[in-house]
Amino acid sequence: MHSAVPFPFQARVRLILAPTNIQLLIERSRQFAAAAFERAAATDSAGVIDDGLWGEFRSCGLAMAAFPEPLGGVGLSAPDRQNELCTVLRLLGGADLSIARLFEGHVNAIALVCRYGTPSQAERLAEDVAGGALSAVWGADDASGLKVVGDGAHTRLEGRKILASGAGFVTRPLVAAKSGDRQFMFLLRLATDHPVDLGGWTAQGMRSSATGTVELTGTSVGEAEAIGGADDFTRQPFFSGGAWRFCAAHLGAMERLVELYRDHLNSRGRGDDPYQLQRVAGCVAAVRTARFWVEEAARRFGDDEAGGEAIVGFANMTRMVTERCALDVIEAVQRGVGLAAFIRPSPLERIGRDLSTYLRQPAPDRAMSEAARAWLQSRTAVGEF
Ligand SMILES: Cc1cc2nc3c(=O)[nH]c(=O)nc-3n(C[C@H](O)[C@H](O)[C@H](O)COP(=O)(O)OP(=O)(O)OC[C@H]3O[C@@H](n4cnc5c(N)ncnc54)[C@H](O)[C@@H]3O)c2cc1C
Repeated sequence: MHSAVPFPFQARVRLILAPTNIQLLIERSRQFAAAAFERAAATDSAGVIDDGLWGEFRSCGLAMAAFPEPLGGVGLSAPDRQNELCTVLRLLGGADLSIARLFEGHVNAIALVCRYGTPSQAERLAEDVAGGALSAVWGADDASGLKVVGDGAHTRLEGRKILASGAGFVTRPLVAAKSGDRQFMFLLRLATDHPVDLGGWTAQGMRSSATGTVELTGTSVGEAEAIGGADDFTRQPFFSGGAWRFCAAHLGAMERLVELYRDHLNSRGRGDDPYQLQRVAGCVAAVRTARFWVEEAARRFGDDEAGGEAIVGFANMTRMVTERCALDVIEAVQRGVGLAAFIRPSPLERIGRDLSTYLRQPAPDRAMSEAARAWLQSRTAVGEF
């Protein structure tokens, strides 16, 4: 097993593409989010994020941001930066959820490599990202699963990854693969023409997230690709606790929906209607509730003093609250706006579709029930949970 890499650590990579500080990154992210929102209808209809937007994503510093400063980033994935990461994910979620999804995967991969990989593995990834590469975490499996087969110099992967976002343009994915009943992580280097299958990605929303199937049979893996040791991928509290990040993206989309609802009511002169006011109140409360939970989950995730079980329990509850709030907001906005919320290219239509799709995350019932069980078996006062 490799030794864990502390934040921050010494490295020899020059500062590339990095804003001078975290405030500048957030300001640039805001500008990038405004540009992405402007183009979101076109992006959605093409099902592709265009090269120009990716260029802006890189030049504003978002591609490198999650690396520690010595590697050219601003440490956005470091424990004491979770609040700022939350802000960036909300901004991107409110602009284009497909971009938020890809960014979340990219940040997660960088965080895992920095946490479990060696310094030189993190350096190589930083060099590649500075050169234009994007990373991702591809964990989802079909019934057969991705396996590690062979040994020594002939160790290779057998199988494929499904529901892999960025299929076709992510060239440095972190994949999870099983050897027996243990799971290992490998940071791969894929050719830009590596075969992918996007034919099955006919989902209602998240069209431009390029979520597809990637065949990996025959890919050689060795010490250079292995990140960390057995089962580090699912090590808690990082595995489940990190769920707050997709909740933050969902929250950003919710916030945008409610602001668009306000614009609609004001522009149509329908804001005095008591039924609309009741819906508006419900929406504002739902968004604010989700924000309290998500920001607190982010804070706890980065808190060295918070216990692992408490972090996981809180993140699981945050998933439940965020999903409920999002479903309530979608319903209220669609009822309050009416048919116009279902007609393209209204951003209300696109965001409703993207958010409904992206809300589908693994095993929500289990996340909720494990949180309930954790509190039931604890002696913690409910207000302190
Ligand atoms: C836009 C998008 C992009 C994605 N990108 C990636 C990516 O890059 N990498 C990646 O690894 N994954 C990715 N995923 C996949 C994601 O991580 C989840 O695997 C997927 O969304 C799970 O959705 P599901 O509704 O099928 O989950 P499920 O877990 O199957 O849940 C469906 C329902 O079944 C219930 N359920 C779950 N397990 C059981 C059980 N054992 N018994 C009874 N009921 C059960 C759940 O509570 C829920 O009600 C992406 C998903 C989306 C939507």
